[in-house]
Amino acid sequence: MTPTSYFPHKNNQMFVENIAVSDIAKKVQTPFYCYSHTAIEASFQDYQNAFSNQDTLICYAVKANSNQAVLTTLSKLGSGADVVSMGEIQRAIMAGIPANKIVYSGVAKTEEEINYALSLGIFQFNVESEPELALISKVATALNKTAAIAFRINPNVCAQTHEKISTGKAENKFGVPISKARVAYKEAAALPGIKVQGVDVHIGSQLTNLTPFTEAYQHIAQLVVELREDGHDINVIDVGGGLGITYSDEIIPSKQTYAEMVHAQLGHLNCKIIIEPGRSLLGNAGILVSSVVFVKKGEEREFLIIDAGMNDLIRPSMYDAYHQIIAVDKASIDNNEEPLKTYDIVGPVCETGDTFAKARQVHDAEIGDLIAIMSSGAYGSVMSSTYNTRMLAPEVMVKGDEFAVVRTRPSYEDIIKQDITPDWL
Ligand SMILES: *Cc1c(COP(=O)(O)O)cnc(C)c1O
Repeated sequence: MTPTSYFPHKNNQMFVENIAVSDIAKKVQTPFYCYSHTAIEASFQDYQNAFSNQDTLICYAVKANSNQAVLTTLSKLGSGADVVSMGEIQRAIMAGIPANKIVYSGVAKTEEEINYALSLGIFQFNVESEPELALISKVATALNKTAAIAFRINPNVCAQTHEKISTGKAENKFGVPISKARVAYKEAAALPGIKVQGVDVHIGSQLTNLTPFTEAYQHIAQLVVELREDGHDINVIDVGGGLGITYSDEIIPSKQTYAEMVHAQLGHLNCKIIIEPGRSLLGNAGILVSSVVFVKKGEEREFLIIDAGMNDLIRPSMYDAYHQIIAVDKASIDNNEEPLKTYDIVGPVCETGDTFAKARQVHDAEIGDLIAIMSSGAYGSVMSSTYNTRMLAPEVMVKGDEFAVVRTRPSYEDIIKQDITPDWL
């Protein structure tokens, strides 16, 4: 799936399914996120097909895009959820994902969160440390329940991705070091309220190459053999998420190739496989649509100032991420009829970091033109804020000839009234 697969140009107009993006813009106002239901469905089914001959549970990583319409779409296709907070558990349950398809990751689960997850009966806690294990045991005992656990193993593998989304090196805060795993499992087996059932690993995000996964899964396979020798009943392997997407021209291994590699490394262990994809399900199923506010000639370069900012999509400033940026109502960029110009594309926020692209070639633009920032379906809206007292961008989902606003734009009043001025001021 490329950034434009589900957002093609027809007769000099960008479409999402059967609707012109500009028609949505007229009704919703920019900036807004726009998702293709068909794209989400297609990428989920791609995973299902790829893993059809393995006993697999797909647990969508909710943090990538937690809109209820997105979760409901995936829930109806049979997806489980990988969650990292009590809020995400509530979202998953409200979207119809059953508790027994929820796995719970995260380094700082609190007593309240553990209590909530246990009372619902989730499938598995992915435990990131020994103190966390002790707390789960305490809460489970008090509730007279048993918590099924896997340790998240830190295999000390370099994921070859951006350092802020690399999680499987010894210096990262995640998981139990593989060298200490056998001791940790021994302790777990001795604790009340704990049932050891699996092993978990997640080495990072936006991986474009299978080598780090392969290396990590080799270590995990070896560990499972050792744990079984130690007498543990290991029957679940959670291989995490992290498969990348094409933002620019990255060539990503297919889900089929990924699934074959998982089978080659882990198939002989006869475990249930959990996968936790996030970005690879949603990333290229969404765009951020914005309008040109001004075209400004600087001394050295020309700026396209748009009405979306780093508060709406933080990936370029946070991870130096590249997103394709395309004029919505011009000829497709692949057809060279209209002139291209070089711009720095920037937002309204008062920070130099509020830059989406430097020296980028797009169509010659005018005030009011619509611009699409591609590949924004994952880690877009979920990371947005109201910085600069800007309203959160609404989200729209399109299915065939229909579209719906699936999160509304709040009013300034909604934002401001959350603050309280004490009466002693
Ligand atoms: C973020 C995360 C994922 C999803 O990663 P993607 O790169 O979006 O597929 C899966 N598992 C865990 C534990 C995560 O933290």
